[in-house]
Amino acid sequence: EEDAALLAGMDQDFDEDAPKRVDPVLAILGRPNVGKSTLVNRILGRREAVVEDTPGVTRDRVTYAAHWSGRNFTLVDTGGWEHDAKGIHARVAEQAEIAADMADAVLLVVDANVGATATDESVVRMLRRKKKPVILVANKVDDMAQEADASTLWGLGFGEPYPVSALHGRGTADMLDAVMDVLPEFSAYGGLERTGGPRRVALIGRPNVGKSSLLNKLAGSERVVVDPQAGTTRDPVDEMIELGGRTWRFVDTAGIRRRVHMQQGADFYASLRTQSALEKAEVAVVLLAVDEVLSEQDVRILQLAIDSGRALVLAFNKWDLLDDERRRYLEREIEQDLAHVDWAPRVNISAKTGWHKDRLVPALDTALESWDRRIPTGRLNAFLGELVAAHPHPVRGGKQPRILFGTQASSRPPKFVLFTTGFLDPGYRRFITRRLRETFGFEGTPIDVAMRVRE
Ligand code: GDP
Ligand code: GDP
Repeated sequence: EEDAALLAGMDQDFDEDAPKRVDPVLAILGRPNVGKSTLVNRILGRREAVVEDTPGVTRDRVTYAAHWSGRNFTLVDTGGWEHDAKGIHARVAEQAEIAADMADAVLLVVDANVGATATDESVVRMLRRKKKPVILVANKVDDMAQEADASTLWGLGFGEPYPVSALHGRGTADMLDAVMDVLPEFSAYGGLERTGGPRRVALIGRPNVGKSSLLNKLAGSERVVVDPQAGTTRDPVDEMIELGGRTWRFVDTAGIRRRVHMQQGADFYASLRTQSALEKAEVAVVLLAVDEVLSEQDVRILQLAIDSGRALVLAFNKWDLLDDERRRYLEREIEQDLAHVDWAPRVNISAKTGWHKDRLVPALDTALESWDRRIPTGRLNAFLGELVAAHPHPVRGGKQPRILFGTQASSRPPKFVLFTTGFLDPGYRRFITRRLRETFGFEGTPIDVAMRVRE
């Protein structure tokens, strides 16, 4: 019965050619200090994100999973937008424009007490060019008396402004209802990519292997805004980074960028962070530093990645520090200590100089392609038939277990089920697993082979 359910479920699992449907994207735009962060917290229904009182505090573009009246959407928060922006402000403005480009709808936030400024008008001009639905929000309308202020914003040309108080929650329900009316069911932005939205990457590794250096190098100065004095302990989750002409979603980057100094239990928290990043990701990049001996912590993190069932890429960082002696030792380490992940693509990089950083995308693609792969049942059984004919299972106590039939029960990562007449030796199972890899590739993905014994 279980087998029947498994077989029935199989065909539905695999319409991999269908475009992926991703949640619609809502971008929040507005100049600094109008209350965007406060509104984000209000929408997410939480309070922990820190709100800055200093105008002009910049930050990375961050995305959050949000929901309202039973619908899910992705909320993109941006730094403020300054008119005639230069330097870091110009980059923030660029972030806002990118956010608008990738959004299905925009929440434009204006401070009702201040009214529309020249900066607001420049945002409006930019948004008009985008031809996306815009919900105009008049924020800081804390009471009825202030509602009159909001009405002056009609002049911006986006229709009736929604008077809200992000601080107290006043009017936000009506505003979100209006958002729901304009958001499509699925994102048009995510639909642009055939694989369905940006692929999700977890960049993990022990402290000091170079995670934040690599992240900065990959993101590039124009794409990510880092304000050294901000020091905000906001809670950004993911970062969108353009690599090889596509957008990738690096998950849980806050934990990477933020320097966490903890005396006690640092290992424990680091491991929790790693696990939570892995849970959200499709592919893990495990970063190792070649200037130091592979440590217990490296091995533990690698094991977490393997156990998570995600696609996997090994990146050997700080290659610029490698000398000949260390290089020989490293080769031994790879052979001995990393033999169990010989299926993962390896890239040698230097986060510091940017050397080989373009090798990362092909490795990610290879790993994800393997992770997604599905072997048609016919091909799998042809392979099993030939394999078993050439290398039958050894006879055990007068009996010889036979493989009746095999199927790939799922992908991401690939899992196979073999229906047999008796228990297969662990050695024979390993042999089949190895042959599966040799025949079908699967570079960069763990694979699993299970058995179902038919009496
Ligand atoms: P952002 O720079 O646009 O993200 O703005 P913040 O969310 O950091 O808010 C800037 C300041 O405005 C903070 O001091 C907030 O407490 C305050 N603020 C935000 N929303 C409201 C509101 O609805 N009413 C009032 N009175 N103050 C608000
Ligand atoms: P994280 O703790 O994993 O985020 O590591 P960081 O990115 O903060 O890097 C730790 C230290 O290693 C910093 O001093 C970096 O400058 C240095 N570092 C990172 N990558 C490289 C590299 O490729 N080569 C060299 N020589 N140093 C690096």
